Amino acid sequence: MLDLKPLWEIQVLDGQRKALEIKLKEGQISKDLKTLKVEIEQGRADFNKLKEKYNSIKKDLKIKEMDATAAVEQVDSLGHKIYSGSITNIKEINTSNIKLDSLKSVVSRTEDEILNIMEKLDSMRGLLEKKSKELNEKADEFRKLHGTYLANQQKVKSVLAQVPLAKQKILDKLDIDLWNKYQEMKRIFNDPLAKVDKGICLGCRMGIPFNHLRLLKQGEEMVYCSNCGRLLFWER
Ligand SMILES: [Zn+2]
Repeated sequence: MLDLKPLWEIQVLDGQRKALEIKLKEGQISKDLKTLKVEIEQGRADFNKLKEKYNSIKKDLKIKEMDATAAVEQVDSLGHKIYSGSITNIKEINTSNIKLDSLKSVVSRTEDEILNIMEKLDSMRGLLEKKSKELNEKADEFRKLHGTYLANQQKVKSVLAQVPLAKQKILDKLDIDLWNKYQEMKRIFNDPLAKVDKGICLGCRMGIPFNHLRLLKQGEEMVYCSNCGRLLFWER
């Protein structure tokens, strides 16, 4: 009696090994991780750029505040001079009044500018906080995904490590001529053995002639698919 089952088991095992090796090389999680890493790096760069701009505007604000203070001091001192009566010359009083008005408008303009800058800084601070929160969340997600990824890789590796022994166990009870024949066919087919289901070769999905099916079910000799040439395996 020809027993192709062990050979079939080896082919299935090889297929599983190949799938696991591919999974090990490039898992979906690994792709997600890469995307996330790029997003985090981009987000950090954006955040730093915004923070730099924020600091530079803050510096401008300090300067404006100093300008305003100086202008207010000038207004106070000139006003004091005018109203204390220390200036008596009418022409000088007029000139001083004009100067005082101009200084007052500088103060008011600078104060308006300060308010505008403060509003701008407020909205930037809000944006910075939002971005920082998003970055932290993404970093958490990355850590979680990375942990899962490593655990999965470990699982795949341990399953893979068991394959050679399982294969050897089957090989030990396999007929050597059959094995040699299989190896020979391996040069042509990735999967030399094809299961037969409902009279169809699952290697090429073509129907098998009745007399071939009969031979297959008798199980005395090797039967090949007349279409694709694979060795046919019918599971009892
Ligand atoms: Zn076929």
